[in-house]
Amino acid sequence: MSQAVERVRSGYPAAFHVMTKPRGAICNLDCEYCYFLSKEMLYPGSRFRMANELLEEYVRQYIEAQRVPEVTFAWQGGEPTLMGLDFFRLAVKLQQKYRRPGMRILNTLQTNATILTDEWCEFFREHGFLIGVSIDGPRELHDTYRVDKGGKPTFDRVMAGVSLLRKHRVEFNVLTTLHAANANHPVEVYRFLRDEVGTAFVQFIPIVERENDSGFQEGEEVTERSVTARQYGEFLCEVFEEWVRRDVGRVFVQIFDVALAAWVGERAGLCIFERTCGTALAMEHNGDVYSCDHYVEPAYRLGNITQIPLIQLVGSEKQRAFGRAKRDSLPRYCLECEVRFVCNGGCPKDRILQTPDGEPGLNYLCEGYRRFFNHIDRPMRIMASELRQRRPPANVSRILSEEERELQQRMTQAGRNEPCPCGSGRKYKKCHGGAP
Ligand code: SF4
Ligand code: SF4
Repeated sequence: MSQAVERVRSGYPAAFHVMTKPRGAICNLDCEYCYFLSKEMLYPGSRFRMANELLEEYVRQYIEAQRVPEVTFAWQGGEPTLMGLDFFRLAVKLQQKYRRPGMRILNTLQTNATILTDEWCEFFREHGFLIGVSIDGPRELHDTYRVDKGGKPTFDRVMAGVSLLRKHRVEFNVLTTLHAANANHPVEVYRFLRDEVGTAFVQFIPIVERENDSGFQEGEEVTERSVTARQYGEFLCEVFEEWVRRDVGRVFVQIFDVALAAWVGERAGLCIFERTCGTALAMEHNGDVYSCDHYVEPAYRLGNITQIPLIQLVGSEKQRAFGRAKRDSLPRYCLECEVRFVCNGGCPKDRILQTPDGEPGLNYLCEGYRRFFNHIDRPMRIMASELRQRRPPANVSRILSEEERELQQRMTQAGRNEPCPCGSGRKYKKCHGGAP
């Protein structure tokens, strides 16, 4: 190993993550809210195909730079399956060539699932790929924005892809973006994903799309397609209520897992809710590395791995400053917030508001985050306590039901002028004992 690699390694986290875009922004669909399609403009005249030589260079450097026994390659786009299967066959072969003894290699691939075939799924199954499928809910909600280049709906094609994944028993999770069309249908969307798509792993990604022509993170307006902070908070609260009563331990919703980690006192494991960021980078089809998938823009280009080793780009002062800025730019309003331990101000790309006292840097989703994280405090405390006592957190469903039964009983016994048993601080007659 070169001295340069050793030097950079010594001052940098043992692991980092790169989202690799072998076909750049090229996609067979034209989802209206997609933040990445516009990145095509950064590479005029390009064929948007990662060359085999570059693939080998990347696999070698990426493995060499990690100091952990498990290395995950994340393939993204655009639509990565547009590279064709042979590209991924080669990738797997190269991973085996360069992996160190005892090292485990994982592959994740995010796809719209519309062009999957039996052959793709056999390959995924054989090599243990974890597939992320983008789907926004039942047909009408999904088809509002997820359309193809001809503006045609895609729901049936996505569901056909899901059927193939299930037929071949490929492990998959679902990524659902929340936007103006589906955000008011939380339980409908959640039940659809759980019962009809049949997934046990769900990520909800809020669409906060800037209104500008550059496609960069600039300007303070958001498009009408964006979810509002209030909608986002309500959506999460309602899905949580459904989940906590019957699905804990059966269905894994990323933001609920992240929250539980915070209540237990562990790290979030998701950059958005970490104190600092900077270890989730993006690499374009030509080897250009950027600070983050959401900052693929010239000002955040760190360099190209054919000129500067990946480890040096990750460990560069520019990238470290990017990661620290997440923490150092937090407004006082966040520093004093009761849920900062879990929220940490959210992703910098969404910090486009001013605080009530006029300080810049408040997250567009703040109202939703605050509502949601306060809403789940009691069940999270219960789950954290169960975990600490080495009992399954799924016990929360039973404990909450018992608490609710007991509360109902106290309600029936409360005097009209006594404090309401719900803990609101108001008299019973002015609260739960009042006229409906
Ligand atoms: S900018 Fe946002 S998405 Fe990117 S690494 Fe930081 S927290 Fe994560
Ligand atoms: S909930 Fe709002 S105020 Fe609190 S840390 Fe998050 S963004 Fe900041």
